Amino acid sequence: MPGLQVSTRGNGEITLDEATIRKFKESLHGELILSPDPGYDDTRAIWNAMIDRRPALIARCLGVADVVTCVNFAREHGLIHSIKGGGHNIAGLAVCDGGLMLDMSRMRGVWVDPTALTARAQAGCLLSDVDRETQLHGLATVLGFISNTGIAGLTLGGGFGYLTRRFGWTSDNLLSMEVVTADGRIVRASEQENNDLFWGLRGGGGNFGVVTSIEYRLHPMNPVVLGGFIAWPWPQARDATRFYRDIALDAPEEVNLIPGWYWDGPGTPYFGVGVCWSGDHAAGEAWLKPLRAFGKPAMDTIKPTPYVRVQSASDASAPDGIHCYAKNGFVGALSDDGIDLLLDVFRRTPGLYDMFMDHCGGAYARVPLEATAFPRRDMAFILAIWSGWRSPDGLDEKVARMRATWKELEPLTRGFYTNYAGTDPVAARDRENFGANFERLVAVKTKYDPTNLFRLNSNIPPKT
Ligand SMILES: Cc1cc2nc3c(=O)[nH]c(=O)nc-3n(C[C@H](O)[C@H](O)[C@H](O)COP(=O)(O)OP(=O)(O)OC[C@H]3O[C@@H](n4cnc5c(N)ncnc54)[C@H](O)[C@@H]3O)c2cc1C
Repeated sequence: MPGLQVSTRGNGEITLDEATIRKFKESLHGELILSPDPGYDDTRAIWNAMIDRRPALIARCLGVADVVTCVNFAREHGLIHSIKGGGHNIAGLAVCDGGLMLDMSRMRGVWVDPTALTARAQAGCLLSDVDRETQLHGLATVLGFISNTGIAGLTLGGGFGYLTRRFGWTSDNLLSMEVVTADGRIVRASEQENNDLFWGLRGGGGNFGVVTSIEYRLHPMNPVVLGGFIAWPWPQARDATRFYRDIALDAPEEVNLIPGWYWDGPGTPYFGVGVCWSGDHAAGEAWLKPLRAFGKPAMDTIKPTPYVRVQSASDASAPDGIHCYAKNGFVGALSDDGIDLLLDVFRRTPGLYDMFMDHCGGAYARVPLEATAFPRRDMAFILAIWSGWRSPDGLDEKVARMRATWKELEPLTRGFYTNYAGTDPVAARDRENFGANFERLVAVKTKYDPTNLFRLNSNIPPKT
């Protein structure tokens, strides 16, 4: 094999000779894949087809020792490197051009301790891996809406799901993480050990090292919830959205109501709400009654449903390999005028994108802002617009129209959820977004990654 051109962190290139690559390959327990090896294209592919990057080397890590080997190799040779968990980051930060990609997808073990109410999961797990094992015991932690999202990226950035109003962000349910830091050490972070790192890992993203396993707090939960979707035709959308807004603000913590504005074909918009009530069913039936009786819904599928089915019910709306451009922002209060603006803007671009909101409040809002790195605790909703174009045709023009759309909606928002950030660069706004937590994040970054080895993430620059 001739030498291999690889990209460095300083935006340059070096050549790795054959002996160096062979030695690296032999020191790994998992595979090392180079183009055009079988599996190269499948492994570098991520959920968002807008991103087409070609790492020079892909290491399919099988354990912590492989991760340590990769981190040391990347540091010693000055390589740019990325970490792929579930590959769902919309901006494509899981994959780099010309560098080393650590593929964590073969590290998918989950161990549940039903007595201690904890679960430890390897960092390559998808949400469904954890839900499946914890629900065997009638337990759950907070995870997101699409079952093949990776737990690592989701947890590091916060983690919102149907149980967030009841139990907080995913990162609020984090008990510990094992992390390989920039100097190749294996470090455990929890309330008791490396507490500063633990603080940063709860909302600060993949800035501090490669996470190899994650320990979650579990909650006893009925494996059957009241779940489903209720929708109204467009002529009722305005009133139904206002009704939704009013009941959402004071809703019990057992319920999460995810409103969305969708297109059933380019000419037919509608408004719908995804529902998950995870508490007592009789109380849920009673509380949901006014929502279900409002106007004339065109669809109502709310019924007792296995929680794991609710957790994958939206999967078909976000298949692998679609072209996604997304924008989001936190919303404090939604006035009637704000609702009119949302609907008016949405209606003007038939079929271009979907729009939805996460329903915040409850347990998530009770955690003090300074308790974790997560930037916002006082917001009512997260507003997002996102596309799922199957065809790459006309992307530039479609993206331009979505940017213009967001310009109109952005005044309703304050700050943004980094995990939903799309392909537009956002780092310049991170300081403002993290607010009071930013300087503390910089201090943790400077201590654990002073040379910014881990930079393909929502990057916090270390102090130089
Ligand atoms: C269809 C879809 C649905 C989503 N639904 C939700 C939702 O319901 N709730 C929610 O909160 N978010 C949701 N998200 C956003 C999601 O949380 C982020 O995209 C998150 O980054 C995905 O994690 P991943 O492991 O799949 O990401 P990847 O793309 O694999 O990785 C993204 C980044 O995470 C970091 N990272 C990943 N693994 C590690 C590791 N082992 N160690 C250190 N850093 C690591 C790295 O910085 C990496 O660049 C969704 C995204 C999509 C595309």
